[in-house]
Amino acid sequence: MTENSGWWARAQEVLPGGVNSPVRSFRGVGGEPFFVDKGEGAYLVSDQGKRYCDYVMGYGPLILGHAHPQVVEAVRAQALLGLSYGTPTHREVLMGERIRSAIASMELVRLVNSGTEATMSALRVARGVTGRRLVVKFTGSYHGHHDSLIIKAGSGAATLGVPDSAGVPEEIAQLTMTVPYNDIDALREVFREHGRNIAAVIAEPVAGNMGTVPPVPGFLETIRELTQEYGALWVSDEVMTGFRVTYGSVAESRGLEPDLITLAKVIGAGMPVGAYGGKRQYMELVAPLGAVYQAGTFSGNAVAMAAGLAQLSVVGEPHFYETLTQRTTRLAEGLKERARRHGIEVSVNQAGAMMTLFFNGQSPTNFDEVAASDHERYRRFFHGMLERGIFFPPSGYETCFPSWAHTDADIDMTVQAADAVFRQL
Ligand SMILES: *Cc1c(COP(=O)(O)O)cnc(C)c1O
Repeated sequence: MTENSGWWARAQEVLPGGVNSPVRSFRGVGGEPFFVDKGEGAYLVSDQGKRYCDYVMGYGPLILGHAHPQVVEAVRAQALLGLSYGTPTHREVLMGERIRSAIASMELVRLVNSGTEATMSALRVARGVTGRRLVVKFTGSYHGHHDSLIIKAGSGAATLGVPDSAGVPEEIAQLTMTVPYNDIDALREVFREHGRNIAAVIAEPVAGNMGTVPPVPGFLETIRELTQEYGALWVSDEVMTGFRVTYGSVAESRGLEPDLITLAKVIGAGMPVGAYGGKRQYMELVAPLGAVYQAGTFSGNAVAMAAGLAQLSVVGEPHFYETLTQRTTRLAEGLKERARRHGIEVSVNQAGAMMTLFFNGQSPTNFDEVAASDHERYRRFFHGMLERGIFFPPSGYETCFPSWAHTDADIDMTVQAADAVFRQL
């Protein structure tokens, strides 16, 4: 079946590249992305009526799958009462309380509209608190598209930031320093040289935007130790990992206490939401209490809060994360085993319900190792799976998100399809 419906040509006439976010412009069956009419549980249905078992899941938010009845009902009920008010509502308070009860170090929480806004605002707080200019991020980590963080690294030791995007002034890029993920020595080196000027280290506690790359032992602990020693803030960017890997924060689940934490994705259940928060002494700097300005017409939006609260109440049930992690492991093990049967070298990185299949005999621990995987082979794998009605992320630098809606049967069907695709790779 071809997926050509004429909409892709129309899309390209009116939207840059036909899309509203670059990752969506992949070549699907027939060389075009498919358009979605609806989502049902673990499946997407295209405008051509083709069903895809979906492991992209909106890039992370849809941990319960598409159109979960409790989430849909909460949205419907709220919509009848109005969409947005510009005044305080109970649900914003309930969301703040729910987040704080799951993540103790988020003593004060500010709700925003996206992960990008959350990290942008958290950095502003860190700079406001410390009166310093520099921030440190890790190569291959994505924290949103704002000027300070859309910076790529050179390889090896820390390099001064080079913007990853035109339109970012060099003066701003130079305030961001990049270090390879999991490189404890390089991080120490940066602190030895610049420590007293560093406002914040921002890190994903499990990297998810270069494929899934878990932290090596001691990596997060070193971030904590160095930021404390030099008076910088540790911003744990849990936009992807928060309420995805475990109920709450990955950093806290490892017994660590970040200064600021950012959330989005799962806490919005598919509605546009973000949040940042941390110790009271830092968050008291945020307007209207303090001098760090940050605001938003839709922040804490009523419909988004309704959706997010409904989702968080389901994932808060006992054994939710154990079960979802087991299903993800079933997929990871199945893929590995079938690849080996066909003599194909792969590794799978997994953290809870995040996983990536790398065509690489070694599990990558940083961006360069991810880049050294066979991405051409991944591309062929992606297309083979898509033809068989399974939607994996279009790039080998993305994470797969199994959801609560994926049954063991869905996963076994996926592994069967992968077997057939591996045979042709
Ligand atoms: C997705 C993501 C962001 C950006 O969130 P948006 O809602 O897309 O702006 C930031 N940080 C991490 C770790 C992410 O995964």
